[in-house]
Amino acid sequence: MSSSISRIHKRLAYGKDAHTYYPVLIVGAGESGVAMGCRLKEVLGTDQFRIFERQSGIGGTWWINRYPGAACDIPAAFYSFSFAPKMNWSTLHPAGPELAQYMADVCEKYQIVDKIQFNTDVKELRWIEADEEWEVTISHLVPGTGDLAQHERDRLVAQDGEHRVYVKTEIVRAKVVVSGVGGLVEPKNLPTDIPGFENFEGEIMHTARWNDEIDLESKDVIMVGAGCSAAQVIPELAKPEANVRSITQLMRTPPWVQPDLLPAGQLELYEKWTPTLMTYVPGFAKFMRCTLFVMLEKNFYDMFTDTAWGRFMRPRMEKKFLNHMRELAPKEYHEILTPNYSLGCKRRIIDGTWYRSLNAPNVELTTQPLTRVNAKSVTLGPGRHYPPNKSEVADEVREIPADVIIMANGFETNQWLHPLKVIGKENKNLEDVWAERGGAQAYQGIAMDHFPNFFMLFGPNTATGHTSVIFATENAVNYSLKFIKPILNGLVSSYEVKEEAEREWTRQVQDELQKTVFRRGVCSSWYITADGWNSTTYPFTQIHYWLRCTFPVWSHWSAKLTRRGRVLKGVRRAVKASVLVALLAGFGFLHKNPEQRLQLVQYLLSGKAWLRSTVQGLISR
Ligand SMILES: Cc1cc2nc3c(=O)[nH]c(=O)nc-3n(C[C@H](O)[C@H](O)[C@H](O)COP(=O)(O)OP(=O)(O)OC[C@H]3O[C@@H](n4cnc5c(N)ncnc54)[C@H](O)[C@@H]3O)c2cc1C
Repeated sequence: MSSSISRIHKRLAYGKDAHTYYPVLIVGAGESGVAMGCRLKEVLGTDQFRIFERQSGIGGTWWINRYPGAACDIPAAFYSFSFAPKMNWSTLHPAGPELAQYMADVCEKYQIVDKIQFNTDVKELRWIEADEEWEVTISHLVPGTGDLAQHERDRLVAQDGEHRVYVKTEIVRAKVVVSGVGGLVEPKNLPTDIPGFENFEGEIMHTARWNDEIDLESKDVIMVGAGCSAAQVIPELAKPEANVRSITQLMRTPPWVQPDLLPAGQLELYEKWTPTLMTYVPGFAKFMRCTLFVMLEKNFYDMFTDTAWGRFMRPRMEKKFLNHMRELAPKEYHEILTPNYSLGCKRRIIDGTWYRSLNAPNVELTTQPLTRVNAKSVTLGPGRHYPPNKSEVADEVREIPADVIIMANGFETNQWLHPLKVIGKENKNLEDVWAERGGAQAYQGIAMDHFPNFFMLFGPNTATGHTSVIFATENAVNYSLKFIKPILNGLVSSYEVKEEAEREWTRQVQDELQKTVFRRGVCSSWYITADGWNSTTYPFTQIHYWLRCTFPVWSHWSAKLTRRGRVLKGVRRAVKASVLVALLAGFGFLHKNPEQRLQLVQYLLSGKAWLRSTVQGLISR
């Protein structure tokens, strides 16, 4: 590796323009950033990178989502890295702390903990064409403020001044930048169309910024939302030992809820035996991963496609899910818990505990709209969100007491990379390019033309909806490494995907999305923007993504070779040409000399006879 390119170093060390150069700079220490760090060490044998993380711990999603009940809904045996399997998961869907500890343990195993710089916000990336490098503006934060939502940081700055959040700004340089900024990071702010939040005298918190210091005992709690997070929190708050006085859940439309993968008895067996089997039975852990992969991949065909198979399976699965609901949820909620859109159109909930918890005497589920927040109460109605048609479901105005409002209203999605500003070649702002082309997009979810040496993990249109995001990320990491390697080896100074390849990829993705339930399911979901652009989901199978990432189409990329790269390419070409010439000359010679040809054939046949006798000798020994 050429030292100046592949080593972290200080430039202009004594001057006012002194800055640090990083061969690879990674943004974010969630699973994406961690995977890239580990694989840079494992595959390319380099530790010359740095991971900048705004928050104060490792794990991204699993560091920051601390609400009671937080857990992965994809089995952890598959929602984990293939290169760092964990044999002793405590259960099928482990809780957040176990997942965050796993991420931290992987960093320890790969010795990259010291490569992560916490409390550091990456603000801007600017491509410097003359140097073929990224100039990166980073902001050192007051420790802990990176764990807040952006709007909370903005509020602190407005209230107390910049120093309350920002310590200093620093400029660094990087040859390659990898984004691992995640997609579900910024919690949605309070809705602006509902008056009165500012007058509320109780506490308000978002599930993604859970405040342990808020005491919920003997309190009247309002839960806004009915997505995956709410479905995990409510069962915890509904437990008698939580002693919450009342929980009123406000839901706009019902989610589809998939029955538990394993019923209670089988889950117990799974928890008891899989750690032993995975640890001591050779190949069992791999077998489990493969089985889960195939099962989840089948879900793709069953739930998302508009094929004859999908049209056959979806209604059957919907029926099964509805039976599950009728079995577990109180009868009075059956009407509002029956979705009026296709399964798969929105993120489904994979868990039965929510339905069960609706039976608790202190839990109420309503589809009446939140119309006002008062000092110690909230007003619901008039009207109801669901069902939209004539119904017996209550719709008169009422006021209910409220001590705490929990916002489970999701994240600012479809704002990829935001608020990170990325300025590429010809001063192009990535956000503007996306706006011009219809919406956020990227070649294989990873690269954009005009933004060389920039790789996105869990980028646009890579969310799966049916399987592990970690599997998709690993594929994107492995793909990116194929391009990063020659850059760090000093053979290529920049790689850039071709514009026509990017546009064609996006056209294919968007066309294919029209044929899936994401588009046809007739629902509003966080996958799609108000103007109908889906920059979230991947319309093909994950086998397809694996193939695309394992076998790059090199002709879709432009490589700018370094002098060494050009020399090496020249040498390779010369060697290839010489071999070809030698072969042709050899064939020509043999063609003209039948005796030599016969001699060669005899020689080859005697080689075959020698091989056969050697093998026979070995067998008979
Ligand atoms: C509650 C919840 C449950 C989920 N459960 C599942 C599941 O079961 N299965 C599944 O497949 N997926 C699940 N997901 C999706 C989940 O987001 C992904 O699985 C995965 O965690 C994404 O990892 P990531 O590293 O790409 O992003 P994240 O985990 O979001 O990490 C991104 C990190 O980048 C940091 N960052 C962002 N911008 C900057 C910046 N400019 N400067 C510095 N740092 C920055 C953030 O602080 C964050 O730590 C879940 C998501 C949530 C919110």
